[in-house]
Amino acid sequence: MKILVLNCGSSSIKYQLFDMLADETVLAKGLLERIGLPMGIVNHTPIGKEKIIYEQPIPNHTAGIEIIIKILIDKELGVIKSLNEIAAAGHRVAHGGEHFKNSVLINNETKSEISKCIQLAPLHNPANLKGILAVEQLIPGLPQVAVFDTSFHQSIPDYAYIYGIPYEYYEKMEIRRYGFHGTSHKYVSDKSAKLIGKNIDDLKIISCHLGNGASITAIENGKSIDNSMGFTPVEGLIMGTRCGDLDVGALLYIMEKENIDTKQANDLINKKSGVFGISGLSPDMRDIESAAKNGNKRAQLALDVYAYRVKKYIGAYAAAMNGLDLLIFTGGIGENSSFMREKIASDLEFLGIKLDSNLNNSAKGKDALISTTDSNAYIVVATTNEELVIARDTMCIVNDNLSKN
Ligand code: ADP
Repeated sequence: MKILVLNCGSSSIKYQLFDMLADETVLAKGLLERIGLPMGIVNHTPIGKEKIIYEQPIPNHTAGIEIIIKILIDKELGVIKSLNEIAAAGHRVAHGGEHFKNSVLINNETKSEISKCIQLAPLHNPANLKGILAVEQLIPGLPQVAVFDTSFHQSIPDYAYIYGIPYEYYEKMEIRRYGFHGTSHKYVSDKSAKLIGKNIDDLKIISCHLGNGASITAIENGKSIDNSMGFTPVEGLIMGTRCGDLDVGALLYIMEKENIDTKQANDLINKKSGVFGISGLSPDMRDIESAAKNGNKRAQLALDVYAYRVKKYIGAYAAAMNGLDLLIFTGGIGENSSFMREKIASDLEFLGIKLDSNLNNSAKGKDALISTTDSNAYIVVATTNEELVIARDTMCIVNDNLSKN
């Protein structure tokens, strides 16, 4: 059963084709960028063959998906003989609001509900929907499934998702904490519980997804009970270019003093802040770590602020759950930066956490236990794979649907 996984952004499309019955193997993956600009970039990797990159105008998402389909069945660069081999498409959808508590089969009703969520994620959901409509047009009748970044967090209780603003804004505009990166947090918490040989239903877990975007989740008995991202992905941890927690009064002050409008303010908190904003150098943690090593003070400050924020949330979530059994690091930084893991997880002995420096230093980009044998809580590095979760959910939902009909 071959599943095409699509992650459509406003100007890019990421894709992976999985063969689920052959050990969930990836047959091909790629990235289309600069959609809608005069010249686009197609980056395609058929597994086992050479990667290719070429330029071609990609006027819109339908044109982009048409390129992906053609390349997948291309005699030289392709990995399948015909489109009939694709059993279903799975889409990453950013926001499912309060409506979607699980992944769903796409039909007219679910499309209309995803459209309603556009007001909650105006930057992401329109592109996700465009991808769904393009596949519908290009491969008519292909079953499609939507997998939401928010649905894992629908178990967060009201006292954790309600903001301290007039309640009417929740009632009339659905302003609340939703939480994001749900697919990743669910995936790494399931596999880390297995790695330490425990039942997830018995664990208090804190999962740190530290990538370009970053969020941290408290998971009790397998259910998300809090996530640091909020109504939008800008809240919580310091990220590559997003500010994370910020006094909204400070933003209003900047807007007034600098005479900037909401769009510019949005750019400021989403694209110019975070480690990039603090260091003035780069959003990339590798650049920041090496600049700090070379004595750059603002890069060092960015590292300090970054680690402190994560540590603070670990303390908060341990308090929220009255304990901690398992701390997980994932995402590009969480999986690869032993330096940042150590900075975050050191001096947390009062929580029963003890990092083993040797194990930490040798864990890079692979699943590993990195706590000492006498640590009360386990610490695990777990590689995330959101595309695989989407492929798995898609296969389950399509098979369920087939067996019902
Ligand atoms: P995205 O959120 O775009 O999926 P990733 O999860 O790939 O991002 O994470 C990207 C981040 O991971 C970047 O800040 C990058 O610098 C960081 N990263 C990757 N490898 C390392 C490394 N070896 N050391 C430190 N940071 C790393």
